[in-house]
Formats: sequence, structure tokens, C-alpha cells
Amino acid sequence: MTDRKDELAANLAKVEERIARACAAAGREREDVTLIVVTKTYPASDVRILAELGVRHVAENKDQDAAPKAATCSDLPLSWHFVGQLQTNKTRSVVGYADFVQSVDRARLVTALSKEAERAGREVGCLIQVALDAGEPSAGGGARGERGGVAPGGIGELAGLVAGSPGLRLAGLMTVAPLTGEYAGRQRAAFGRLMDLSTDLRRAHPAANMVSAGMSADLEEAVAAGATHVRVGTAVLGVRPRLG
Ligand SMILES: *Cc1c(COP(=O)(O)O)cnc(C)c1O
Repeated sequence: MTDRKDELAANLAKVEERIARACAAAGREREDVTLIVVTKTYPASDVRILAELGVRHVAENKDQDAAPKAATCSDLPLSWHFVGQLQTNKTRSVVGYADFVQSVDRARLVTALSKEAERAGREVGCLIQVALDAGEPSAGGGARGERGGVAPGGIGELAGLVAGSPGLRLAGLMTVAPLTGEYAGRQRAAFGRLMDLSTDLRRAHPAANMVSAGMSADLEEAVAAGATHVRVGTAVLGVRPRLG
């Protein structure tokens, strides 16, 4: 356990250094970027260590793993972000622990989240997940289908729906750098596009100012583009087993 704590502390320090350097290069304040550690596939004991090391935001992508982990860690001062494809039949469970759902991408999901949030007496922050490769044929067995997201043209309508839904608060936009389409391999351009979409969104919804972009491999590009939240898994916790 002590070894694991040393390991996570060293990894966190490296990620912190990368974020700080990226902020400095972009002329941004370090506190304008929030680190979310993606703890999927890793045990609750790691989440506990991360909290001891000062992490305040964690993310999960599968309710079946996240729900028991969040329950075990409910004494910790953590915000939980749900970042995976979400089926409507899991929304009751997810609103029980998630402070944010970053993967809102369709009206039916908004309706289900709103109903369950109201029922639980919770307020859930919602980020619209944007698919920047929408319309591309999903090569390699439906990569895009698995990743989810709404096409840029659908953001306005979905945002309006979230904003008018009890129990939900429109918090901003999220994306995962596309593997296919015009932005494949062009993370900086993809994240720049997300920022433009965020600017548009904030004209109608000024408080929806979260921009969640960037992972272990491309957090610098996200910070350079203006992301407010980066979601880092591997660089903190290590390489995940192939599934997950
Ligand atoms: C797993 C995951 C991450 C973290 O990815 P790493 O490459 O491990 O940093 C970020 N965002 C989402 C949506 C994820 O599923």
C-alpha cells in the first residue's frame, strides 16, 4: 500500500508538472485547469490514496464498477464524474453518486436523468458530449458508436433541454479526440473546435463554462486550446488491463 502511494504520488507530480507547464506556455493560470483522475478499472483503495494525495475529482465510465466504488469512498471529499456511455436504465444508480455526467448525448438520456435526479433530490451537472467525427463511417467495429456524442449541430437543442430540466444543471461541453474523420490525429484542432462550440453555447447559457477535453496523451493540446478540465487515467494510475 505504501509502495502504491509512492507510485501514485510520483505519477501525480509528473502530471501536475505537465499541466503547470502547459498552462505557463498558454499564458493561463494553473487554477483555471482542473485535474480529473479517471479511476476506471482501478480499485477503491487507489481512489482513497488519491484523495489522501489531494485529488478532488475522479471519473468513472461504467456504472457497475463505479457504484460500489463510490459507495466505499462516500466518506471522501471527492466529486464524481461519469464519463462513459450511459444507458437510461442506469440513470437511477448514476445520479446516486455522480456530481457530473459528462456524456449527455441524447434527449432520452436527459429526460431519464432529470426524472431520477428530481426523485433523489439531487442536482446533477451535465456536460454535452460532442462527437467531432459525427457523420463519419464508424470504422473498426463502431468506434464512434461506442464513444457516443452528439454532432455539433445538435448541441443547442440538447443544451436547451438540459437547461429546462429539473434536477439538472447545464455545465458545459466534453469531447474525446476523434480517431477518425477530419480531426483524426489533430487533437489541437479538435479541441480548438470544441472551444468555439463552447463560446457559442455560452452566448445562450453563460454559466455553462466547463470545457472537458484532453487525456493522458493529449492534455497539453487541451490546455493550449483552453480546456477547463482534463481527464487523466493512465498517466496517474498506470496502463489499464486491455478491457476497460
Ligand atoms: C478512460 C478515459 C479517459 C482517460 O484516458 P487515459 O488515456 O487513460 O488518460 C478520459 N476520458 C474518457 C471519456 C475515458 O473513458
